[in-house]
Amino acid sequence: MEPEKCCESGCIPCERDPDGKEPIDLCNYIGGEFVCHSGNEWKNVLEPATGHRFARVPLSTPHDVDSAVKAARAAQPAWGALSQSERVGWLDRIADALEARYEDIASLESRDTGKPISLARAVDAHRSVANFRFFADLLREQEQEIFEMPDATNFVVHKPVGIGALITPWNLPLYLLSWKVAPAIGMGNCVVCKPSELTPMTANLLMQVIDDVGLPAGVVNLVHGDGVGAGAPLVANSDIDLVSFTGGTDTGEKVAASAAPSFKKLSLELGGKNASIVFADCEMDSTVAGVVRAGFLNQGQVCLCGSRVLVEDSIYDEFRDRFVDAVEVMRVGDPSDEDTDLGALISSEHIEKVRGYIELAKEEGGSLLTGGLPCVPTGFEHGNWMAPTVIEGLSPDSRCSTEEIFGPVVTLHRFSGEDEAVAIANNTRYGLAGSVWTSDLERGKRVSEALETGMVWVNTWLHRDLRVPFGGVKDSGIGREGGRWSLGFFSEAMNVCVKHD
Ligand code: NDP
Repeated sequence: MEPEKCCESGCIPCERDPDGKEPIDLCNYIGGEFVCHSGNEWKNVLEPATGHRFARVPLSTPHDVDSAVKAARAAQPAWGALSQSERVGWLDRIADALEARYEDIASLESRDTGKPISLARAVDAHRSVANFRFFADLLREQEQEIFEMPDATNFVVHKPVGIGALITPWNLPLYLLSWKVAPAIGMGNCVVCKPSELTPMTANLLMQVIDDVGLPAGVVNLVHGDGVGAGAPLVANSDIDLVSFTGGTDTGEKVAASAAPSFKKLSLELGGKNASIVFADCEMDSTVAGVVRAGFLNQGQVCLCGSRVLVEDSIYDEFRDRFVDAVEVMRVGDPSDEDTDLGALISSEHIEKVRGYIELAKEEGGSLLTGGLPCVPTGFEHGNWMAPTVIEGLSPDSRCSTEEIFGPVVTLHRFSGEDEAVAIANNTRYGLAGSVWTSDLERGKRVSEALETGMVWVNTWLHRDLRVPFGGVKDSGIGREGGRWSLGFFSEAMNVCVKHD
């Protein structure tokens, strides 16, 4: 049974009430059409800041997943046969069309996730466009790799892998989806996207853009739904050749187990518990500002956030006081207000998890220096609000110091000397990122290299060059994306060896 169209005009999406009194009903995008899901179940999409329902996302079924995978499979031979420059032309067109919707991306993302509009503009809207432009440019610059032998020449050919499952979380919805879609289709694959059911709006916008520019049907497909009904069947589908997953470590474990029996190509970008290491010789003003930003950007809901701050003994007291002062002046409030620094957390379930960790911190011997309570802006009583929270006095072995909380909660720890700093930083199952703050750049480099992580910043944080490898070690993931690593993941390198006459 093929999915039905939602309405005669095709739903893009099915906006039943433009005044916003009724929720927007989203559709899947399969084979170049917006289509209804095959089941009857929906989930309300709530604004984290207000708790208001503003959309409904279809809870798609394995049947819908199957239709999307079939559409991708049907489209792949023709898409894979296009020249690289033709595919790059499509990436350019998508980038241009997305850029024209820049403000829409920012406002939908702010509404859907609860993040401040200024952040949604500077990070989410900006990077979503930049991802398509960046991979278009990178592909344009790619040179044929050749390895000469005395009597033969080796040519490296990059072939598409086939059909990709792209699964993304709620914290940076379009930023992360575009980071996968652009290199995947640029290398000739066709894809099925499964965004988080909590934040589906900008994935829907990307499908509108893809439809508007006329990308060949089936190259990019979207199935909305939850992990059980849509995510798991997508990963398990026998016609999926690769899985690029960003999300929590526990979910990553299930994805890896499901992908393993059929040897699907797999990239896992998972959780983190990152340390910001502050040495006594740091430049205090910029370090306090940088470490606050690393701890609390997006309400602490970035996998790279520095949620453990390790401070050298001799400056601990001064740093702690200045850090807490800086946290307390952050403005928590209406995400649509240009002056807001921190918005709402994603959901009431998530806020319960974060609160649970704050209670646990008290039981584990921690002292709250600030925060720890809901801080609800006037008029937002039904939203998910939490004051930025700083805790000290916890053992570096405690659960709160080693487990990912993924909220506006930072723990402070003392250390004396490089070795102790590195030992504390590495004392977690995670290995995603970190930052080192010192005026001795040799030490900055030395300490960085001793950290068991995929990425470290010295005297900065989240300073991203899209050409560099991105990914984690230990339980933070498998593989690298970014720059040529993405192109490598989304292709199969084949060697052709030609013997000379
Ligand atoms: P989840 O792991 O809960 O979900 C991620 C995605 O996987 C969602 O689309 C989810 O669907 C889907 N999913 C859930 N179960 C399955 C399954 N069994 N099979 C396939 N897909 C499934 O993560 P969150 O959305 O809660 O995101 C927060 C996590 O993401 C944090 O741990 C954070 O560190 C990590 N993250 C990592 C990044 C990195 O680059 N390393 C970047 C950003 C976030 P649904 O939610 O709709 O049920």
